[in-house]
Amino acid sequence: MIDVAFYIAHGCSGCTMSMLDLGERMNDFRMRVAWAAPTLGDGKYDRIPEVDYAFIEGGIGLSEHVEIVRELREKSETLVAFGICASCGGIMGLANLHSKEEILEDVFGSAKSSVGDLRIPEMLEFVKPLDSVVEVDCYIGGCPPTPEQIYNAFKAIFEGERGWITSGKSVCE
Ligand code: SF4
Repeated sequence: MIDVAFYIAHGCSGCTMSMLDLGERMNDFRMRVAWAAPTLGDGKYDRIPEVDYAFIEGGIGLSEHVEIVRELREKSETLVAFGICASCGGIMGLANLHSKEEILEDVFGSAKSSVGDLRIPEMLEFVKPLDSVVEVDCYIGGCPPTPEQIYNAFKAIFEGERGWITSGKSVCE
């Protein structure tokens, strides 16, 4: 079995949904999901175990994202930027057209630091690609990558390939 972790940072879940469209073909990889977490928690996460592969969807826009991806880097043999937001900033990077203050005011108004009991982690000044925070071994392009792209990328990554696995680099350059 291959132990994997999935984390959605500043992502829309579209990459993960596209992966789920693989359906039973996911069984071809004999993956065991050892850890998974959504984009915005309440600061409480299960302990991250040692894993063979960590897949991270979305850009890095919160202090919490930085903490978690650094830990995933430490705990994983291979770290994968999953989709163009994690690889290059992508759609989520459009937040950089506005200041942090403008976004907070527009979205939360006067309730900037809490919504009910939900703790909002500190926003970074800019949304960044994953490799500006941690070393990345593999990049999967696409927004979202199609199920076929993901299938081929998983196959290549699990067979030891490194670097850009699907087309997408030109989007970053
Ligand atoms: Fe969503 Fe596209 Fe970003 Fe994936 S790459 S998180 S589908 S916006």
